[in-house]
Amino acid sequence: MDKLNKPAILVVDMLNDFVYGALTCERGKAIVPATAKLLNAAREKGVPVIFCNDAHIKDIDRELALWGDHAIAGTPGAEVIPELGLSERDYVVPKRRYSGFFQTDLDILLRELGVKTLVMTGLHTHMCVRHTSADAYSLGYDVVVAKEATDSFTEEDYISGLAYLKTCYGADAYTNEEVIAML
Ligand code: ZN
Repeated sequence: MDKLNKPAILVVDMLNDFVYGALTCERGKAIVPATAKLLNAAREKGVPVIFCNDAHIKDIDRELALWGDHAIAGTPGAEVIPELGLSERDYVVPKRRYSGFFQTDLDILLRELGVKTLVMTGLHTHMCVRHTSADAYSLGYDVVVAKEATDSFTEEDYISGLAYLKTCYGADAYTNEEVIAML
């Protein structure tokens, strides 16, 4: 299998509120071990790990009207879950919309790191992962999906999310083992 061209791992919204708190989801809990394993393999290989984290402003951000309060900046709910072992070498990009690119520093960070391919992980496949992938594609990045390290509230949303990413952005989905071999 060919190596990925200048990859980085993007971890979307693996925060306390998404896994254990306000927007808790059993399927989110189930991907934690695979995600931790993938991130550790990437760190060992010197591949950048970038967290795109919801960091909402209470009573201001419009998403909160749809989903209720979650991942309010500065609260424990907005912190990366401890199992993923956020390290000083990782990068953290706060966001206030679904996409990790929307009015954030993500693009400039990726360009400075020389990243060409984004390995998408995190929550939710059909929502924030999808919106982030859309902007990644439009900005010229290649997108692949680590399918054991992303999920949605339902199986249907997960499957349709993966299909949408493949159809619209050419994002192939790989197992953890395959992704690690390609880093
Ligand atoms: Zn949000």
